Amino acid sequence: MPYQRCLTRPEASVEFLRTTREFESLHFHELVHVVQWSRLGVDRFLLSYGLGLLQFGYEQSPLEQMAYSLQQLFERGSVPNNLVRIIESGADGVWKQVAQVVGAPRAGTP
Ligand SMILES: [Zn+2]
Repeated sequence: MPYQRCLTRPEASVEFLRTTREFESLHFHELVHVVQWSRLGVDRFLLSYGLGLLQFGYEQSPLEQMAYSLQQLFERGSVPNNLVRIIESGADGVWKQVAQVVGAPRAGTP
């Protein structure tokens, strides 16, 4: 929403703030995926994400579950200090499950 509209219409200011908060929340969610991707590497991330979609559907897939649960903490303003480590540990756990299904080595980073 253009900033000028917020100045001329008070209700637009509320909408601008709501939209900005939603954008930040979505941005945070996507950053969780960036850390997951960074931890797992391209092949393991895509395999984990795809298998999660096939096994559990979008909302219940493990990498999405992690992103949504951390996004909720972000929206409440209670993101843990060791966030990156939590995401990396969670991604490692997802990969261990995926590796069992596809028969890939579980340990180590790509
Ligand atoms: Zn997501």
